[in-house]
Amino acid sequence: MRPLSHNELLNFWEWGTHRSGIERGLMLISLSSSYSDRDKLLGLSIGERDGRLIRLRQMLLGDMLMNVANCPTCNEIVEWEMNINHFQIPDFPTEIKEQTYELEIDDFSIQYRLPNTKDLLTAIHENQESEEILKNCVLVAMNRDNQTINYSELPDTIWDNLSKQMDQQDPLANIQFSLTCPSCQHHWQSTFDIMSYLWTEIDSWARRMLQEVCILARAYHWSEKEILGMSAKRRQMYLELIS
Ligand SMILES: [Zn+2]
Repeated sequence: MRPLSHNELLNFWEWGTHRSGIERGLMLISLSSSYSDRDKLLGLSIGERDGRLIRLRQMLLGDMLMNVANCPTCNEIVEWEMNINHFQIPDFPTEIKEQTYELEIDDFSIQYRLPNTKDLLTAIHENQESEEILKNCVLVAMNRDNQTINYSELPDTIWDNLSKQMDQQDPLANIQFSLTCPSCQHHWQSTFDIMSYLWTEIDSWARRMLQEVCILARAYHWSEKEILGMSAKRRQMYLELIS
């Protein structure tokens, strides 16, 4: 993975303005990994997809995540911050490959894969429950006599353990923060969605950057390309000289 240049990031922002969160997320992964096979990007497990986006955020804007949430009880604004290193993000392989796993319980065994973006899109489109997503991830189901069976014949213990095992294998698929309201002491779990978080940051970065380009181009008659090619420190220095 590699960070994007200022020019690439602005092109992405322009493209992403009228795209969904999922489309933006997959495009960022594609640009930072030079990987364009859409089917494989859709097949990334949710945790690997979001982990790659968190890693890219770290490359672009540093370690600290800062955000606000509203207390669900009294609506007070609660600020939180988190160091990305806390997530223990693994080094992702250059090649995107779907992995299969096994689970054996009570003489039954299954081979399965982790839920991915394609599963989520299908679930939204067909109004599926989370149990349906789990069933879609089972590739092969076998009984105690090693005969292939329909997943409907699997005992409940398989499904309960499959869900728990997936949570452990793909921990970044569901990132929750514990927050406490300083006003009413209410304690709750807040879900962190890297795709919307990162888009908000890129959107405000792009607007600020274009304002700076406008001010510097007016004052010094430099091209957009020349200004975007400068370091933030040098751009800041020229802006200070104008004021
Ligand atoms: Zn509160």
